[in-house]
Amino acid sequence: MAANTEVYKKIKEELRLNNVTLVAVSKIQSISKIKELYDLGQRDFGENYVQELAEKYESLPKDILWHFIGHLQTNKVKYIAPFVHLIHGVDSFKLLKEINKQGEKNNRVINCLLQIHIAQEETKFGLDKNDLDGIFGDKDLKDLKNIRIAGMMGMASFTEDEGKIRNELRYLKTLFNNYSQLSTANCQLSTLSMGMSGDYRIAVGEGSNMVRIGSLIFGNRNNANV
Ligand SMILES: *Cc1c(COP(=O)(O)O)cnc(C)c1O
Repeated sequence: MAANTEVYKKIKEELRLNNVTLVAVSKIQSISKIKELYDLGQRDFGENYVQELAEKYESLPKDILWHFIGHLQTNKVKYIAPFVHLIHGVDSFKLLKEINKQGEKNNRVINCLLQIHIAQEETKFGLDKNDLDGIFGDKDLKDLKNIRIAGMMGMASFTEDEGKIRNELRYLKTLFNNYSQLSTANCQLSTLSMGMSGDYRIAVGEGSNMVRIGSLIFGNRNNANV
């Protein structure tokens, strides 16, 4: 199966007009499908699994901007630290410190987004407002010179209820606006990563400037390798 290049082109153009960055979520998808989009000019790709990302990085062109969008364990940061462009799912100060340590080892500054818990479902990871205040108020934050907090990321509930999705995304946008006032050497919040295949239009309407789209452009992941 090939990627849905016609759908890709339409979405890409729609997002371009709104100044929204498209992260093509390529988890479980084959190298050849990624190459198809690469050949159309796509450079931002998102992956959820550390080992899969490291392997794809090795076998694909080096000008790809790799986004890590999954749940990152501290003991795995070292595998992606040399090359990752943006880590979306940072949900603890401990993880930030480990990313900083690995950034230092690799002599680079690693961009991070804080993942905010906005869905009512218990299962989704992320920080709440108190956690955020804890991170931004931590006296050690300024010493993390090899990370940059570049924005926030969130996932709305998986539901048909558009009103509910809109409310959750709107709440994230409000939080983002509040914290983006803050500007220090390693915190400049300019990226708001929200919106997936099912809700990207709502997300763009609510002020997202980065969407993560997988199944709409690559097809269903259940038969990704067919
Ligand atoms: C898989 C995934 C996506 C893409 O999901 P689709 O519904 O296929 O667009 C986006 N964000 C995260 C965090 C994901 O895990």
